[in-house]
Amino acid sequence: MAATRSDVFPVTWITEHLGVGAAPMSHAALDSLRRQGVRAILNLCQEFTDLHEIESAAGFEVYHLPIADEEAPDLAELEKALAWLDEATYLGRKVYIHCRHGIGRTGTVLNAYLLRRGLGHLLAWRKLLGLRSQPANFRQWRAVRRYGSTARRLTLRQPTLEHRFQVDMRPFFADYARLLEQAAEEAAQSGTDGECGKTHARCCETPPRLTLAEAVRVNAGLGAALSSEARARAIGRATERRQGGGPCPLLENGACAAFDLRPLSCRVHDLPEARRRALWDQTLAPALLKLSREVYQALSGQFMPEGFPDFGMADVVTGRYVQAFFDWQRTHADTAAAAGGDNG
Ligand code: SF4
Repeated sequence: MAATRSDVFPVTWITEHLGVGAAPMSHAALDSLRRQGVRAILNLCQEFTDLHEIESAAGFEVYHLPIADEEAPDLAELEKALAWLDEATYLGRKVYIHCRHGIGRTGTVLNAYLLRRGLGHLLAWRKLLGLRSQPANFRQWRAVRRYGSTARRLTLRQPTLEHRFQVDMRPFFADYARLLEQAAEEAAQSGTDGECGKTHARCCETPPRLTLAEAVRVNAGLGAALSSEARARAIGRATERRQGGGPCPLLENGACAAFDLRPLSCRVHDLPEARRRALWDQTLAPALLKLSREVYQALSGQFMPEGFPDFGMADVVTGRYVQAFFDWQRTHADTAAAAGGDNG
């Protein structure tokens, strides 16, 4: 039977990936959220002590930031919740933010998120005009003002709420594909199979580290390369191994679960040592650095600073490298600002 209007749990969509509203108080409401594409929930209710567990059990990824009714969040806890929200929306998940009625607490967190995305107080106020979700009292407005004055905002080129698909990565992916072709030609010429991850797994014992360009490419491809079950298994392994080492999280049953996506270091692993070193040092590493600088600039509008790190495969598989990217950018911006202050 087709869903009627009354079957649809009401969500106010702020962007394609961010909705707000009241607490879903029934399984029918949760089912409706799922049908509307919601995959993650930021639950702000302190009064319903087990609602976040019910939401989790229903299959949603849940972040619980308990705030008492009419109250404002602690700023440090708010920052953690917004970092989670940023990561979830970047990864393309639809997130639903709710308190009990979807008004004061939801409006406070939403307003802070708009500031975090760089909209500024005036643009954030305009975005909220006409919504039910607004800071509803002096304490909540004051929390928003304080958050706005202390938040280390993301430094994107333009104030924006949607960031995942803001930059067309296809030109970078095309350049990266040419490097893959080069590695394949080298493997063919040297008579090595170049198939670590398929015919053997020697390169998989130590997870590779990826430059920004490769991290973006591999992470973007995983959604299409793996079924959701295979992706969940890979993320599970990556989460375990982030804490305790072990082989590459994409290794499953002795083979690479995303063979066509494997990074360059895996593709050249079977080359004779001297040839591999020469190819890596003289060609692939400089090309990856150049490409990563271009990707960094496209994503942030800034030059990539010296010392920008590579990322472990576990963080690329889980998508945590995105948060590391943002954190590094903010820390660097703070350091640069402090140095500028010293100079002034
Ligand atoms: S990406 Fe694939 S081939 Fe490379 S180390 Fe991981 S499992 Fe092995």
